Amino acid sequence: MYGLKTEACFDSAHFLTDYYGKCENLHGHRWRMVVYLRAERLQAEGTMRDMVIDFGVFKRDVRALAKELDHTFLVEEGSLSATTIQALEAEGFSLTLLPFRTTAENLARYVCERLRDQGLPVCRVDMYETPNNCAQYFFE
Ligand SMILES: [Zn+2]
Repeated sequence: MYGLKTEACFDSAHFLTDYYGKCENLHGHRWRMVVYLRAERLQAEGTMRDMVIDFGVFKRDVRALAKELDHTFLVEEGSLSATTIQALEAEGFSLTLLPFRTTAENLARYVCERLRDQGLPVCRVDMYETPNNCAQYFFE
């Protein structure tokens, strides 16, 4: 079994719905996502022969996703009223609407699914919301 790992960071705001504590209020994190690839065999031909995948391709795709989420407000769909969403957008704020509660666990799964959809053999994503706290998602 072979593996590759790379990481990227993004700064985003969020809040947790139905949570009774500090995280129910709007706040930000420097999210650090560490992405792991796994492959049983190395590629057999072409420029990626004897590689899992070219690091350049892997880093480009991970960084592009981080850039998409960077400096946006991660909002669970349905957690804010339509008028609030419209008001934030009218002020020029950048929102990322997501169909799930914006926990680190769900964001780790989201990153895994997005990158797998692009063809990367992702097997694990670690999503740090602080330097000490990390949620992990494993693709089985
Ligand atoms: Zn948080």
